[in-house]
Amino acid sequence: MSGWSRAALEALDRDDPLARFRAGFQLREGLLYLDGNSLGALPQRTMSRLEQTVRGEWGEGLITSWLGAEWITAPRRVGDKIAALLGAAPGEVIVADSTSVNLFKAITAALSLRPERGVILSEAGNFPTDVYMMQGIAAFSGGRVRAETVAPEAVLARLDSDVAVLVLTQVHYKSGAVRDMAAVTRRAHEAGALVVWDLSHSAGALPVDLNGADADFAVGCGYKFLNGGPGAPAYIFVAQRHQAAAMPVLSGWMGHAEPFAFEDDYRPAAGIERFLCGTPSVLAMTALECGIDLMAEADMAAIRAKSLALGRVFMDLMDEQCAGLGFTLVSPRDDAQRGSQIAYAHPHGYGIMQALKERGLIGDFRAPDVLRFGLTPLYLRYADMLDAVSLIREVCEARAWDDPRWKVRAAVT
Ligand SMILES: *Cc1c(COP(=O)(O)O)cnc(C)c1O
Repeated sequence: MSGWSRAALEALDRDDPLARFRAGFQLREGLLYLDGNSLGALPQRTMSRLEQTVRGEWGEGLITSWLGAEWITAPRRVGDKIAALLGAAPGEVIVADSTSVNLFKAITAALSLRPERGVILSEAGNFPTDVYMMQGIAAFSGGRVRAETVAPEAVLARLDSDVAVLVLTQVHYKSGAVRDMAAVTRRAHEAGALVVWDLSHSAGALPVDLNGADADFAVGCGYKFLNGGPGAPAYIFVAQRHQAAAMPVLSGWMGHAEPFAFEDDYRPAAGIERFLCGTPSVLAMTALECGIDLMAEADMAAIRAKSLALGRVFMDLMDEQCAGLGFTLVSPRDDAQRGSQIAYAHPHGYGIMQALKERGLIGDFRAPDVLRFGLTPLYLRYADMLDAVSLIREVCEARAWDDPRWKVRAAVT
């Protein structure tokens, strides 16, 4: 018995130092949104801010807003705010493009710092786009560079004098398992390799200390725990010490030392701006900045403590209420090794998730059989864990996953 009564959980909610944040999001009562690790909820402030940007800055200000509304400096300004969440210094993070594109930029820049080495290494089962980008770079290199994945537990042993770049995700997208960023980075550096960290499931979910870990490069999403909106711009971190030598392959005009000098030849900007490529997406950046500003008001230690506590409650309740119903825990039980989501494998995982969505619990499904439940401390309550697990049990006991509508999988799962 876990012993989590509703009264005990409601008492935790009353004492929750982050409780005030929930009202800052548009979330209808009765909805159990356990998918903020895939698309963060909408901050209320984003709607009014976007209206002001669209009507006032775009509609009235037109092109003068590049300077007048400080659009042109937004990638750096928002990047500096993200840097503060990641243990990076001002001038080490810039907002641009998608995570996928930033992976390309970071990996190619790292390769330019290790010209005598030819392997880009990652782990099997990493998020697909990370590995696909590695494979695309290898194919384009005409044989100079090879993309290689090894089993997660074999990564460190594979580091040798051939490996130029190691690409890893700090919090695994499926299991939620956390890599020790400082220890892995140290091992890679000892072998002479550089590391590109994907922080998509870390930023806004747990404290990240890029400079404390002596990190080289990092990338991550704006639309997950940072609540920046669907398809929000992503960010790239390049350690100060690498910036002058790391050559951008996507040498767009916005990364030029003087974009408005309109010179014939590319000269990279001196600092992190060289990792800009084209014109920033201002509306999307505006929404992202609202999410970041909101996140910056919360204490990251409190976020981490609540995230872990929500996870313990969720797992306790699953043990108690869903034992014998076919679930296998995929996430680490150990707090120190777990990010901000709980994943279970189940042979009927896809159907279960569809049945849950019909009943007001939104999580997601990752092939072949994993149900993911994202835990977002800014807007979830302890009592929501009880409601969620009760629904999961209800769906399984009723075999509600066994429905002909769910024989064919949707385009987005
Ligand atoms: C969500 C996610 C991405 C997404 O990349 P996009 O280019 O925004 O589609 C990349 N990497 C990881 C680890 C992710 O979880």
